[in-house]
Amino acid sequence: MTGPLDVLGVPGEINLDYAASAPCLRAAADAVTGLLPWYASVHRGAGALSAHCTLAYERARQTIGDFFGARTDDHVIVTRNTTDALNLLARALPAGTTVVTFAGEHHANLLPWPTGTVRLPVPDSPAAAVRTLDAALRELRRGPAGRATDRPVLVAVTGASNVTGECWPVAALARQAHRHGARIVVDAAQLAPHVPVDLAALDVDYLAVSGHKLYAPFGAGVLIGRADWLDAAPPYLAGGGATGHVGDATHDVRWATGPGRHEAGTPNLLGTVALAAVCTALAEADRAALHAREQALLTRLRTGLAALPEVVDLRTFGADAERVGIVSFVVAGRDSAEIAATLAREHRIGVRDGLFCAHPLARRLLAEAAARTGRRDLPPTALRVSFGLGSTADQVDRLLDALAAIVRPSG
Ligand code: PLP
Repeated sequence: MTGPLDVLGVPGEINLDYAASAPCLRAAADAVTGLLPWYASVHRGAGALSAHCTLAYERARQTIGDFFGARTDDHVIVTRNTTDALNLLARALPAGTTVVTFAGEHHANLLPWPTGTVRLPVPDSPAAAVRTLDAALRELRRGPAGRATDRPVLVAVTGASNVTGECWPVAALARQAHRHGARIVVDAAQLAPHVPVDLAALDVDYLAVSGHKLYAPFGAGVLIGRADWLDAAPPYLAGGGATGHVGDATHDVRWATGPGRHEAGTPNLLGTVALAAVCTALAEADRAALHAREQALLTRLRTGLAALPEVVDLRTFGADAERVGIVSFVVAGRDSAEIAATLAREHRIGVRDGLFCAHPLARRLLAEAAARTGRRDLPPTALRVSFGLGSTADQVDRLLDALAAIVRPSG
């Protein structure tokens, strides 16, 4: 039996690295295959094939926007991925905007922001995150030398950590931001593959998502959100498709408004249509049942890891935090890269090792793990296991067995 929520894979290979790139959903592959015979230019041709592709692209935009709860006046801009989406927003900030973020972010949500960005310390609970943000925004609003300021402020936070899998209190942070007249962007790269994310329901201003972490092929993501900043900003890329008029003089350009302003160049039709197919398949699925299934796998994994005496997990908010299917840990006295290589070579299990493009957070959590356990032999990098739709209890058990064999070699 095959279904739209099946993921593609290679028999014998166990992929427990969904947080890096999730496997492709059958629905996405089918959408691409179905469109390939029609393959023609989007927005740039009068032929029937081109008209078909233009319609498919714009319908896909609508589907993706609807799936993420875009408001009618939001723009849904197709980007390459989350990194691209956040860089686009960073370039669209009104002059004088202050960005406020947390040190626990992925580099994609730490590095694009302008000089002067306020980087708040990693909080130790969701409630502390809200309190810390409140204090920081209060301080910002007080302005230099106590003069109140209403300059734009953007809060940039993750929905779920790519290191710990822990969920951030997005709705509460959005309320706090708005209370202080700030806007908020959520990096939903890791949240969206696991739970429904609705921009309007969360009252979030902008959302950034990667297709390749959401069961679509590489190369398409989205930035969704408030139109005013995006329409007022210089185009992210200059070129065809982003213009209303181009005159003979170099300065004589009228840029388009709407998503096309930031989508110069021929768009990624196949990636966008594939992402929309995933959105449709997930919208029709029983997300609560999928979530419950994933949580059961998570419990199985965490219980199994806790039974291995040398394993120490990484956490920000504590053992009971709400989390998605991502767990990072170290094995005391053992090199993480060597363990990951052994899992791949001898057990055909793919996980990730390193600092996961979140160096400040990963380093802090490693130091915290050493302090919590009193161990001085923790390695400087970690292992990460992550899963989703195609993952099974058997795969988790195989990983745990393999880890037990690596951690306690016989003889
Ligand atoms: N944000 C988070 C939380 C991530 O985990 C990642 C990738 O791992 C990104 C952003 C960047 O995603 P991409 O590489 O698709 O741009």
